[in-house]
Parts: sequence; C-alpha cells; structure tokens
Amino acid sequence: MGNLSLKIPGRWLYKALMDSSMIQYEKYNLERSTLVFSPHPDDETLGCGGTIIRKKQAGADVKIVFMTDGSTSHSHLMPANKLKAIRASEALAAAQKLGVEASDVIFLEVKDGTLANHQDAASKRVVEIILKYLPEEIFIPYYQDGISDHNATNTVVVSALKQSGLNATVYEYPIWFWNQWPWTDCGRESQKLLPFLQDSLRSGLRFLNDFRCSVYIGDVLELKRTALEQHKSQMVRLINNSRWLTLGDVSKGEFLKCFFQETEIFYRYKIEV
Ligand SMILES: [Zn+2]
Repeated sequence: MGNLSLKIPGRWLYKALMDSSMIQYEKYNLERSTLVFSPHPDDETLGCGGTIIRKKQAGADVKIVFMTDGSTSHSHLMPANKLKAIRASEALAAAQKLGVEASDVIFLEVKDGTLANHQDAASKRVVEIILKYLPEEIFIPYYQDGISDHNATNTVVVSALKQSGLNATVYEYPIWFWNQWPWTDCGRESQKLLPFLQDSLRSGLRFLNDFRCSVYIGDVLELKRTALEQHKSQMVRLINNSRWLTLGDVSKGEFLKCFFQETEIFYRYKIEV
C-alpha cells in the first residue's frame, strides 16, 4: 500500500481497456429528443453537459428535470430554503449556458436527500412528464452511482419508463462512481489492501462492462466549464468558511477533473416493454 504512483498507470490501463470496447455515439443521435433527469442541480452538467451542448447545437429538443431541490448541500452553513432558491436560479443559469431555455427546465422539488422515501409519488410525476414529451432518449445517473438521491433517480425513472410503455433509449451517466481508484484516491487510505483490491476490481469491471458508449465533447469543454461555473454554490465558497466544501475540494480536485475529459461516457440500453 501507499504506492500512489500506481494510480497513473492504473488510469492509463483502464482508459486503454475502456477505449478498446467503446462505441462512439452516432452523429444522427445528436438530433434525437431528450429528457435529462438530474438528482441535484449540477449533475446534469457534470454527467452530460457536453452531450447536451452538442445535442442543442444539432437542433435537438432537450429538457432537463431536476429531481430534488439541492437544499441541504451546505445545511450546516445556510438555511435550506435560502439554498433551495439559490440552487434553482443556478440551475436555470447553467441550463441556459448548455443551450436549454428556462421553459424547458422542470423542477420536481423533492427535498434534497429524501427521494428514496418518495419514489412512488415521484414515479407518477415522471410518467406524466415522459408521456407529455415522448423523448427518444433518456439520461439518468448510473444505477450503482452510490449516493441515495442518484440511485433513487435511476430507480424512479426506469420504473416510470416501464409504466409509460415508451420505447426510449436509456443513457446512464456516472457521477460519484468516478470517485474511486484509480480516478481518485477515495477509500484508498482507509481500506485494507485486500478489500481495496476487491472493490477496485469490481468497479473496474463495471466500468468496462457497462460504459461502452462515448460522446466526444473535446470541442465544447470550455462551454461545459462555463455552465458548471453557474452552479456557484458548488464551485466556490458562498460564505468565507473552509467548511463550505466545493466540488473542487472532493478528492483534492481529481474528482472534478473526471468530468473534463474529452469524452462523456454512458451505459446505454433499451428497455423492452
Ligand atoms: Zn448529485
């Protein structure tokens, strides 16, 4: 243990293996109508911001649904209702930079952190949204993303999609799934060697088996960065207090870097109804 230099060859190996089984998202798909489901304001930009920009540039109809209000990300420093309002306006500003009009942004306003407790009610509303817009493509967080609201967003939307009977293609994007070795050092120091190796192998196999569709975003990275900067409460300290953590603080900045690679990657499948 402790040989952190292994991280770089580890990443290189993962990337090489992933690239060898990756299929590029076909250009004609860019124009397809799309619903993006984001557990919190910022996940839409982190996970598929570049893809949204490219789809909007291709003339696609893209709508973003924010599942929770993001009101408790800094609850130790700011009251929830104040943060809720801030995050909603940040979400609209980010959407605009991605090319999505405010009228194409939907807020379900489930309280941050509680979506898993309101899955049935949320599913009903998502069925209505799906049936209203009949999207050809649906973007959701990865089913094993690891954070409660993220996993619940996946469950809620997949269940709604099955209920709706629509034949849309699903694209799952990783967010917190990136926050592990070799992409970051998360969990490395606290775990013993054997469980660490087991976890790394398991997640590595998931990366290789599931994430086989990639969208090139190298030409829109700066726009994606500008969109993410609109989520100020997540990017800078709104209060001058070191306990106000930002995305850049996660895993010493290595987490944030994962979202500014030249491709966004997706687990793509169709739900058979
Ligand atoms: Zn999130």
